[in-house]
Amino acid sequence: MKIIDAHLHIFPPDAHTNAMAAKVGHENSVEHLRKVYGELGYVHGVVMGNRSLDPEAHDYPPDLFHYCVGLDSFLMDRGRRVIPDLAEKVEANLKRENCCGVKLYPGYNRIWLTDPMYEPVYELAARYDKPVAVHMGLTAFPGASLKYCHPMALDEAAADHRHTRFVMCHFGYPFFETSCAVLEKNPNVAVDLSGLLEGPLDLPRFLCEQQDHLGGMRTWLNSILKWDDVMYGTDWPIVNLGNYVKFMQWLIPEKHWEKVFFANANRIYGLGLQ
Ligand SMILES: [Zn+2]
Repeated sequence: MKIIDAHLHIFPPDAHTNAMAAKVGHENSVEHLRKVYGELGYVHGVVMGNRSLDPEAHDYPPDLFHYCVGLDSFLMDRGRRVIPDLAEKVEANLKRENCCGVKLYPGYNRIWLTDPMYEPVYELAARYDKPVAVHMGLTAFPGASLKYCHPMALDEAAADHRHTRFVMCHFGYPFFETSCAVLEKNPNVAVDLSGLLEGPLDLPRFLCEQQDHLGGMRTWLNSILKWDDVMYGTDWPIVNLGNYVKFMQWLIPEKHWEKVFFANANRIYGLGLQ
């Protein structure tokens, strides 16, 4: 089975990130990813951009990765920094073949998705026909604010920008009921299933202990029947790549694997993979 990881981060080596990868049995390096991808059937990944709008900063091996240019809280100083020439800088990335979208982090920046600053970004994304991925749901830091990244916050932006395609990252965990409503209502919204578990874990035991909670997630996904709009993703480096495949194979009915693990991300992010 061919796999596209529709959501990962590439962080430069430092003690913190190296420890994060080591904790889940990996090494924080592209060489290591290439090796593990080969072993597990991963054929490509979509890097969620952080820290820079300079296209030169997003120099990833083209055979392995595309990227979304990201407006994160590091770049925007938690929403306090206005970026001059934002549209031009975003467009300089979108023009590149290996840039397949934009990534927004509204909970970390405390900026509503309907804020006028995003208007040119949505227009550019529509013009280049590349999606806007949005971090939705629980955040990694308590200083972020959930109301800006609750899945409901995406509904109005999606409704007002019908020609812009959006990706609700992390399936809006744990607000699945709302996530499903937003996904079902808006034909221009897709989801990725990244980051739903993290850290080292005994997967069979975890699935047994969490089966009611996780079963609820499966029920929601099955109830809305939008399998063309659901993508596999990991949120590397916080998960073990082998465990995450097994987790998703447990969660998703087998008849949808080809779409969820490969075809949907290939189409939604326009990756052009065979
Ligand atoms: Zn992420």
